[in-house]
Amino acid sequence: MTDKPVYIGICICCGKPITRDNLSTSLEGRVIDWNEKISIQGVTYHFCHHCAGNVKDYLKGGIKEAVKRQDEDLEVIARLKALDDKDKATIDPVIVGS
Ligand SMILES: [Zn+2]
Repeated sequence: MTDKPVYIGICICCGKPITRDNLSTSLEGRVIDWNEKISIQGVTYHFCHHCAGNVKDYLKGGIKEAVKRQDEDLEVIARLKALDDKDKATIDPVIVGS
C-alpha cells in the first residue's frame, strides 16, 4: 500500500498540486494586482521544479533577452502563418456530391 501524496500548495505557474518533494521555490511577501488595483500582504506562492527552472531560464539575460525571445517567437508565428496560408491557397476544394 502506498501513502497518498501530501499536497502543500499549488504551483503558481502550471497549477499542479505541489508536494514537499516537488516544491522548488517559494515567494513570500506582498503582491500588487495591477488589473484589480489591489495590494495583498502576506502571500506565499510556490513553484514546482519544472516551472522554477523555466522561470530561472526566462530571467537569464534580463529584458534584452526577453525581447529577443519575443521577436523570435513572432518571426516563427509569421513563418507558420505564411506556410498555412500557402497550403490553403494550393488545396483544391472538394465539392461533395459532384
Ligand atoms: Zn509548475
